[in-house]
Amino acid sequence: MPELPEVETVRRGLQPVMEGAKILTAEARRPDLRFPFQPDFVARLQGQVVTGLGRRAKYLMADLASGDVLLMHLGMSGSFRVIKPDDEAAPGEFHYPRAKDSAHDHVLFRMSSGADIVFNDPRRFGYMKVIARNALDEEPLLRGLGPEPLGNAFDAAMLARSCQDKTTSLKAALLDQRVVAGLGNIYVCEALHRSHLSPRRIAATLSTRKGEPTDHAKRLVGAIHTVLNDAIKAGGSSLRDHRQTTGELGYFQHSFKVYDREGEKCTTPRCGGTIKRFTQNGRSTFWCPKCQK
Ligand SMILES: [Zn+2]
Repeated sequence: MPELPEVETVRRGLQPVMEGAKILTAEARRPDLRFPFQPDFVARLQGQVVTGLGRRAKYLMADLASGDVLLMHLGMSGSFRVIKPDDEAAPGEFHYPRAKDSAHDHVLFRMSSGADIVFNDPRRFGYMKVIARNALDEEPLLRGLGPEPLGNAFDAAMLARSCQDKTTSLKAALLDQRVVAGLGNIYVCEALHRSHLSPRRIAATLSTRKGEPTDHAKRLVGAIHTVLNDAIKAGGSSLRDHRQTTGELGYFQHSFKVYDREGEKCTTPRCGGTIKRFTQNGRSTFWCPKCQK
């Protein structure tokens, strides 16, 4: 499943062909993805200039001149292709397999920039919805989302406050979208490893009794910033190599230190431990029992 850095990479890949361009035609080739398309989905998009392409958590948000916002979520298997008259590219390279079968091309935007933007999604957990900008605060899909992990509001003090009374594991707390938005299994594993904190640690240990952040909380926030920024940077480099669309395993995987590395030697200097895997809240957790406490 694409996580925040992948979505950010897609945003950066789509930005040059979407921002400032008009959606000449929009096409929904089926009645639904994860949810049915709104009856006026196409009508609210066609003829609209995209004034900006932003991101909130794992949502892409295209601002339209009409005052509407097109919300797009990649789900489990969604991806975009950018087709120009002399070129075809898929923004970013990913850890998850990307389908190329045109039978799964479900949405198409023909842009005045000369590009066709195709949304492909074999498993159809992705979705798109047009929402009035002034109604975003009440939008159920966005309501309750916690702070952006790379935004100014997210710091050790805030994380400590959110975890103060949590008796769940640190892993579960970080996957809770109300605590921090857009983090998924891969980058939570990576951030915990980098900060040398056990995924089983009780979340409340990030906070002192007074609700102040412990050193653990500070270390963890720093690690979250680093793993996300590194992945976004790696995604940026994969954008430049977008013609190499053959491999299904992308650039991101090579920068993982623990995820999917069960049985390998821990990369923490002088640790000498071995990466283990166990199931936690139904998901695989990868960690080093020796240096993550
Ligand atoms: Zn280790």
